[in-house]
Amino acid sequence: MSESALVWFKRDLRMADHAPLAEAAHFNAALALFIIEPAWLGSPECHPRHVAWLLECLAPLRTSLAQRGLPLLVRVGEATEVLMELRREFPFTHLFSHEETGTGWSYTRDKAVARWCQVQGVAWTEWPQTGVVRRLKDRRGWATLWQKRMDALPVPVPAGFRMPIDFKRACLSDLLPQLPTLRDLGQPLGTTALWNESTPLGLGTQQAGEDAAHEVLHSFLRERALGYRRHLSSPLDAELGCSRLSAHLAFGTLSMRTVHQATEAAIEATPNRELAYGLRGFAGRLRWHCHFMQKLEDEPSIEWRNFARTVDGLRPGDGTELQDADRERLAAWCEGRTGFPMVDACMRQLRATGWLNFRMRAMLVSFAAYHLWLHWREPGLFLARQFLDFEPGIHWSQMQMQSGTTGINTLRIYSPTKQALDQDPQGLYIRRWVPELGTRAYPQPIVDERSALAEAKRKLYEQRATPEARGEAGAIQQKHGSRRSGLPPSGVRARKAPAADLGQGSLF
Ligand SMILES: Cc1cc2nc3c(=O)[nH]c(=O)nc-3n(C[C@H](O)[C@H](O)[C@H](O)COP(=O)(O)OP(=O)(O)OC[C@H]3O[C@@H](n4cnc5c(N)ncnc54)[C@H](O)[C@@H]3O)c2cc1C
Repeated sequence: MSESALVWFKRDLRMADHAPLAEAAHFNAALALFIIEPAWLGSPECHPRHVAWLLECLAPLRTSLAQRGLPLLVRVGEATEVLMELRREFPFTHLFSHEETGTGWSYTRDKAVARWCQVQGVAWTEWPQTGVVRRLKDRRGWATLWQKRMDALPVPVPAGFRMPIDFKRACLSDLLPQLPTLRDLGQPLGTTALWNESTPLGLGTQQAGEDAAHEVLHSFLRERALGYRRHLSSPLDAELGCSRLSAHLAFGTLSMRTVHQATEAAIEATPNRELAYGLRGFAGRLRWHCHFMQKLEDEPSIEWRNFARTVDGLRPGDGTELQDADRERLAAWCEGRTGFPMVDACMRQLRATGWLNFRMRAMLVSFAAYHLWLHWREPGLFLARQFLDFEPGIHWSQMQMQSGTTGINTLRIYSPTKQALDQDPQGLYIRRWVPELGTRAYPQPIVDERSALAEAKRKLYEQRATPEARGEAGAIQQKHGSRRSGLPPSGVRARKAPAADLGQGSLF
């Protein structure tokens, strides 16, 4: 059998800096595939807005690949079944893809594909596409590895691909039907809104695809990064003042290396010191992206389980059923009707646009975890569906960090009242998203802030002071802590969230 390659696109929907594509270009026959998997569509983190965005990314990618002679098949089905069926038509000997740090379903899928490849005698090669290191033994040296990967030369886009004429003809006729629509995929229509009319540069619209990703990157590097560090915290300024690259990184329309190198080049090139200052702050965030993803890679169970096992069972929903009252509080939070205007405004922005800045994400979670005393899993699933940029490693690590279940981080509790005063002193943001405020239609606060917080702190302090909790913290810090931050393992102090957002992650 002559050698032939199948490029399996996953969360890497681009031409540039794509090692599997470049490798396939050396083969006498190559084909590309994207599988829309029922396991993904049915997963509790998936929302029609993700599916819509995916389809919008696939369309231009398909055109770019076709221009270089590589047909991209888009099939719906379980991965091993799709691969099996395709192999009957196109007997590929090599399967090329990027590594994925995903949730349980994609991990299970990858194991099944590995087994299938072994049985079929297909050689499956996976390349890293971020700073996440597979089978990492220890966090020592991780930052150096990250730097080395990010500084390596990007992989050039192949000039063209080869394919036997017969197969090409067959591909172009029978095998390349139109992309499926949302309706074909059983996705409810009308729930995919990404539009935010208030954004003058149209960033609320979050354009999908590789070209759009480059435009967003360059508008940020050229001008929007000016004042980045000042603009991070307020939901009004952050809309344009943050890079807005997260969905592109999550779906891989840009590689992390491309963003890193373009940022370093922009810092080098600009004579504007304020712009350079903003860009350096941004460059640090890119490390965080991979630092947080590495935690899920190293410990996949953090998607379901507390980092600190000594907090197990502390809140309802953690090994126990939610009571009706908990469910009601959760529903009010999800629907943006808690009676706390800043919380409700943020939730409504998120639901309408699929994006929210870091500070306000953290405030929403802090409110669910401390004021409403809810375990992070259910709120985390809800937010995962809302975030267009859902990235499992960042998401679940952050959910736990903001809920105080990592066992090692300083407890960070955000007061929605203080956040409203600090970040929206004129009430512009709140009025935009909660127009009924001040009328009878707006609900009373669903909890008493002061007593809810006092009770939450008491329980957490008590738990953290136990010898078991203290004993566990060292092991968690050893496994997941950043060696770069220079931070000692955090103690049990509760801190109010800082006024400036630079300490947002307090890396652990
Ligand atoms: C509870 C919670 C859940 C989150 N879930 C996600 C998620 O699913 N996907 C996601 O991409 N980000 C997540 N974040 C991190 C952060 O809020 C977003 O990355 C950021 O708001 C995206 O907007 P941006 O691209 O304009 O960010 P910028 O401020 O421009 O940052 C640039 C990039 O750096 C990375 N980054 C920034 N902040 C962080 C951070 N704190 N931790 C890790 N990486 C960071 C992201 O890749 C981001 O795109 C979460 C934060 C919280 C508090």
